[in-house]
Amino acid sequence: MGPMTFHIFGVFAILALAWLLFVLWIIGHVFRAVWIAFLHLTGLANRAPRPSTKPRRCAHIRCLAINPPQANFCRRCGSSLTRASTLRETSPSPDRWASRLGHS
Ligand SMILES: [Zn+2]
Repeated sequence: MGPMTFHIFGVFAILALAWLLFVLWIIGHVFRAVWIAFLHLTGLANRAPRPSTKPRRCAHIRCLAINPPQANFCRRCGSSLTRASTLRETSPSPDRWASRLGHS
C-alpha cells in the first residue's frame, strides 16, 4: 500500500460517487415521468384548476348573449357576468353611503 494505491482508490471513490449521483438523477427523472404518465392515465391531471375557457352566457333574460370567458360585462347589454360584480351592484357602495351621510 503506497501513496499511488491510495491515489487510485480516491479516484475510484470519486467516480463511484459521481456514478451514484447520476443513477439517482436518472431514477428521479424516470419516477417523475412515470408519475406524470400515471396522472394523465387516471385523469387526475385534468382535474387541476385551470382558468375557465367556457364562454359566458349573459344572465340578462332578454339578452342571453355569448361572451368571451374573460369578459366581466356583457358586450351586448353591458350587464355584469361575474357574481362579484353582481353583488357589488346590489349592495350599497361606500360612495353612496358617504353621499347619503353628507346630504343628511
Ligand atoms: Zn347581455
